[in-house]
Amino acid sequence: MKNTGRLWRPVLRAQRRAFSSSSRLLDNYAFIGLGQMGYQMARNLQAKLPPSDTIRVFDINKAAAEKLAQEMKAQQAGGAAAQVATSAGDAARDADAVITCLPEPNHVKSAFESILSAHNAAQKGELHSRPKPRLFIDCSTIDPTSSREVAAAVSSALPNGQGNFVDAPMSGGVVGATAGTLTFMLGAPECLLSRIEPILLRMGKRVLHCGPQGAGLSAKLANNYLLAIENIATAEAMNLGVKWGLDPKVLASVINASTGRCWPSEVNNPVPGVVETAPACRDYTGGFGIGLMRKDLRLAIIAAKEAGAELPLAEKASEVYQAAEAEERCKGRDFSVVYRWLGGKE
Ligand code: NAD
Repeated sequence: MKNTGRLWRPVLRAQRRAFSSSSRLLDNYAFIGLGQMGYQMARNLQAKLPPSDTIRVFDINKAAAEKLAQEMKAQQAGGAAAQVATSAGDAARDADAVITCLPEPNHVKSAFESILSAHNAAQKGELHSRPKPRLFIDCSTIDPTSSREVAAAVSSALPNGQGNFVDAPMSGGVVGATAGTLTFMLGAPECLLSRIEPILLRMGKRVLHCGPQGAGLSAKLANNYLLAIENIATAEAMNLGVKWGLDPKVLASVINASTGRCWPSEVNNPVPGVVETAPACRDYTGGFGIGLMRKDLRLAIIAAKEAGAELPLAEKASEVYQAAEAEERCKGRDFSVVYRWLGGKE
């Protein structure tokens, strides 16, 4: 994959550009999908937009959209004007930038059916084409093929660069979404970066441009595949060491000073008492849900099959997460709960 040299770009430069431009391209925003991540992201975006801008929010859970709009309106220090929309198509109707944050590929497809049919209906009544091209930023974790299908549908409904769909899946979890410190993995043509980055940097602190449309998702799924395996291997190794009589803190410090070191061993250690801030120390609550890990693994397997890439460990890892999630004591908890499923000493 081509390294554009734009990785780790300083945040401030992009933000300054966004606020100082006198001929701003983007004034009207739509945010669709206000769940654990989207709710917080939309809140951060709205708070950092000027009051002359508008943001229209939509979720099939009407209560979430209404609660968010109330929160936005109650805000003391400015922010964009907030409105609740009645559908994805209604939210996106006049938006220059549409952000989606939805669970699965079928949700993204259905939201875009609504958006594009509302667009087509509006086009019929309009004599002139829209003066401003529209940007669609999908932050959902879905498979790259589904993402490309939606991108193709957008460019056929809004041809000649009038509509661009890009993928920007993220990492950082709910904590990062709330603090506005997410990292986005962006799949988009180079020529759109200056328009996309200022938007993403209102919700996160880093944008990693991975290549053309779909590349952000490929990078995200490759990373999460690795994480899925590392997490199980860390739980197995810690369980093994403890069963051999090692103190888990001592074992973790050896691993973290040696070649086995990884994020699950160092930051998200699965053994209670080893890393105070890890979900294992709060009965595996919070963190990255085991259900989301299973979903990302499933998407990685689909994408690997399409690319003809062998993943010999993937099926076994899926079985482990599925079996763990099926047990009440593990269900809905952080994915490091695999240690509990293995029968690890807590
Ligand atoms: P969530 O399930 O909490 O929220 C999804 C929201 O989308 C819900 O409010 C749901 O009502 C809404 N929705 C579903 N279909 C819709 C539709 N057709 N139109 C409008 N709204 C619809 O999910 P989340 O945790 O916010 O995750 C969103 C995406 O971000 C997922 O793809 C997930 O994999 C990814 N992600 C999540 C995390 C995390 O820690 N939660 C981290 C990184 C990436």
